[in-house]
Amino acid sequence: MQRRKPIRVTIAGNEWTVRRARLKRVYGYCDHAKREIVIDAATAPDIQWQTLIHEAMHASAPDLSEDAILRIEADIVAVLRGCGDWFGAARGTDARPSNRPRQPNTQSPAK
Ligand SMILES: [Zn+2]
Repeated sequence: MQRRKPIRVTIAGNEWTVRRARLKRVYGYCDHAKREIVIDAATAPDIQWQTLIHEAMHASAPDLSEDAILRIEADIVAVLRGCGDWFGAARGTDARPSNRPRQPNTQSPAK
């Protein structure tokens, strides 16, 4: 997917930047120090979308464990997929669970 300009969003009352970049070894990460979410631009849009949900939860609730976030992410993704036709989005079906780890709630970008 092509890169686009970073966007500014409000998460938990703070302004965050969301951008895409080529990442290695992770689909995305959440940098609390920079208030930035970065999503791997090289993955399928469906994976980017799911990763964005995951990383936004890290940004919103840094106290949640990785297991809790993964559990909630799975539920949200299932609900959005079920309702996908309502919005003309979230139709991707190629969202196999990945072995590629997301960087756990981290302070520094992946190498
Ligand atoms: Zn995570």
